[in-house]
This record gives sequence, C-alpha cells and structure tokens, in this order.
Amino acid sequence: MSSRIHLKPQNRFSDSIEQRLNGFARRISTYKNRSIGYPVNQELGLTEFYSWYKQSGLTEIALNNAGDPRTTSIAPLNTHAFENEVIDFLAPLYGFKPDHSWGLITLSGSQGNNLGIYFGSRLLIKQTGLTPILYVSSEAHYSIKQLAELQQLETRVIQTQIDGQMDIQDLERQLDPSRPALMIIAIGTTFKGAIDDQQAINQVLTDKKVIAVYRHLDAALFGGFLPFSDHADLLNQQQHLFDSIAVSGHKFFGIDEPAGIFITTRDTLSKQNPVQVAYLNEEIATLACSRSALASLKIWWKIQSTGIQAYQQQSQQLLDNAQYLKQCLDAIAYPAWLGPFSNTVYFQRPSASIMEKWLLAPDSDPRLGGSLAHVVVMQHVTTDIINEFLGDLMLEKANT
Ligand SMILES: *Cc1c(COP(=O)(O)O)cnc(C)c1O
Repeated sequence: MSSRIHLKPQNRFSDSIEQRLNGFARRISTYKNRSIGYPVNQELGLTEFYSWYKQSGLTEIALNNAGDPRTTSIAPLNTHAFENEVIDFLAPLYGFKPDHSWGLITLSGSQGNNLGIYFGSRLLIKQTGLTPILYVSSEAHYSIKQLAELQQLETRVIQTQIDGQMDIQDLERQLDPSRPALMIIAIGTTFKGAIDDQQAINQVLTDKKVIAVYRHLDAALFGGFLPFSDHADLLNQQQHLFDSIAVSGHKFFGIDEPAGIFITTRDTLSKQNPVQVAYLNEEIATLACSRSALASLKIWWKIQSTGIQAYQQQSQQLLDNAQYLKQCLDAIAYPAWLGPFSNTVYFQRPSASIMEKWLLAPDSDPRLGGSLAHVVVMQHVTTDIINEFLGDLMLEKANT
C-alpha cells in the first residue's frame, strides 16, 4: 500500500471532514452565476426532490436500471416504470410514433451517440451484408469520431460551411453510394451551435441512390429546447426520417449529474443482434449494463413538476436572451455570430481574465479571424448576467 495514504476511519461528519466539504461547497457556489461558457443548466431546482428522497428512505437502498426497461422482469430494485414514462413523454416530441419507438435514459449524450452508431451499423450490416461508412462533419462533437474509432468504422469527415453546418457539396463528393451510409447529423454543433440541413442531406442521399442509410441525430443540447420552440419540426422523425436521436439530460433538462436520452424506432431495435442474458431473463441489445436509476427518477420528477408550458417559456427565454446578447455585441461592434434557432453566441476571444472569470470555452476558426469563445445561454443566464458580462467586455475594450 502507498505510504502516502494516512486515512484513519473517522466519524462520518467529524470536524475535518465537514470543513473540507464545506470549503469545497463554498468555493463551487461562487462559480454558479459565472458559468456561461458550457451548455449546462445551472437552475436545477432539485432541493424538494432531494428532501423527499431523504424522507422516503431510498437513500439507504441501492437501485439500478439494468437491461431493457420495457421487458426486464427479474430485478425489482429499479425505476424502469419512471424511465419508460420519460421516454413516452419525449418520443412524440421528436415526432416518433408512440407505438413504434423505444428508448432509454442513458449515462450521457455521448453514450446515446455510441448506441446510435452501434444500432446503425448493426442494422446496416444486417440489411446489406456490408460494413457502413460513417459520415460526420468536422465541427460535430468530438465523441463521434472517437466512438467511430472504437467501433472500428471507416469514417469520412465532411467539411463545414463557415457557419458550422455540414458542407453539402463536400458530402456529395465524399459519399460512396455502393456502401451503406451511417449519417451522423449534428443538431447543434459543439462550438457554433450549427444545425445540419437534414433536407439537403436527404436529397443527396436519394439523388446518389445510396444502397442503405441510417441517420442518427446528435441533439445533445438543442434536443432539449427545440421541441418546445416554434422550430420543433427540425426534430420531427416523421418529417426527416432519422432512425435515432441522442439528447443530454444535464443540459436543457437540468439534471445534476451526467444523464442522457436515447430514442430509436422499434424497427431499428428489431434489427439488432441481442445477446441472451439469463440473469436478466431477456435479450439485451444495449451496450451498458447498469444505468442510473436515480437519474430516471429525477428526470421524471422534473418533467412532472415543470410541464410543457414552462418548458416552452424556458425555450423561448434561451433563444431571446441569445438574441439579446448578440444584439448588444453588435451594438458595440464586437465581432460575434449566432446561428438560426441557436442559444450559442460565439465571438472574438476576449482576454484570459474574462475567459477565466466567466468560464468561457475557447476555440478557433481561421475563417473568422482566429481565436474565438462562446456563451451558451442556458436557463440561469439571465439578462442581468449577460449585462454584467457585457460590462466586463466593454471595460476591456475601453482600456485597450
Ligand atoms: C454536450 C454534447 C455532447 C456530449 O454529451 P454528454 O452528455 O456530455 O456526453 C455531444 N454532442 C453535442 C452536440 C454536445 O453539445
């Protein structure tokens, strides 16, 4: 054993443990209202849930959602019933027909992407006997490229337009119609919040007579607010014919731990190669065994206690406040951009001290003059916070 570990068993809340934790909590709390650079909703409102949870006695019971929540019948220590209700609430919002969809609360948006890629490649191989080529734009989330590598899929990275959307002409150039296409479509790219044009992509796939196609949407952030906006049709399965979608639970939906939503069609599920798992008494098509039971319970509680109308208001607020930030930056002639239906304003990168104070994320694009940063307008990013941030930018501008 390492000689550097000197831990002796202590009372669960001895003075030293409490001091350490309280110091941590105090420090973290000072960041909350300055956290405007990452797509995480800091307006959680989970206090009542946790009060109930503590009173209920469940803090002393280990729960686990393993297996298919629709069919697992053996282990009762799960929240599958709540998980299913969350999927039943969300699937129609993405245009899935209720009886033709299937889904899970995953560990994260990236795990949903992993499932989309896995389900898609199984389905395409089953349909054609050929391994697919994965197509994804260079500005889509980095997890896609890593997951494609993990699943050993040939990948073609498609160039982007200056606004971050997949460049359709480059897709046309790189598309191989003789091999099945596993299309990963970004509904909100990581940095610029660009939405790939599904209509144009579908047109190319049809014109080129690609042998077989599977479409997975990475809507980790935008999949939260778009269904409650006037632009819900951007995420309509029946309109755009996507086969699966991944959304994060800790972004728009405000869960306090990583969580995600994965939804696909029953048709896709039926074309998998499930493994027989005797101890769960079922066939398993999913990749992870254990999933968080608590996350499902929290998402269910949030949906029940929020309601569609409040989600519509939140969605409008994100888009309005993003517009407000963009207009204010325009007014002081600060180079800034905002895509349509987006809550992500990107702009010329400010000083290191502003980056640090406001927890901003850096990126760069030579087409836009080099160094960039962005603000992701989430529920806690109010106009007051935006004004304070703008004040810092203006002060810096005046002093240089
Ligand atoms: C955040 C994000 C991801 C990763 O999601 P996690 O839930 O953090 O795993 C993937 N794609 C996009 C577009 C994202 O914004």
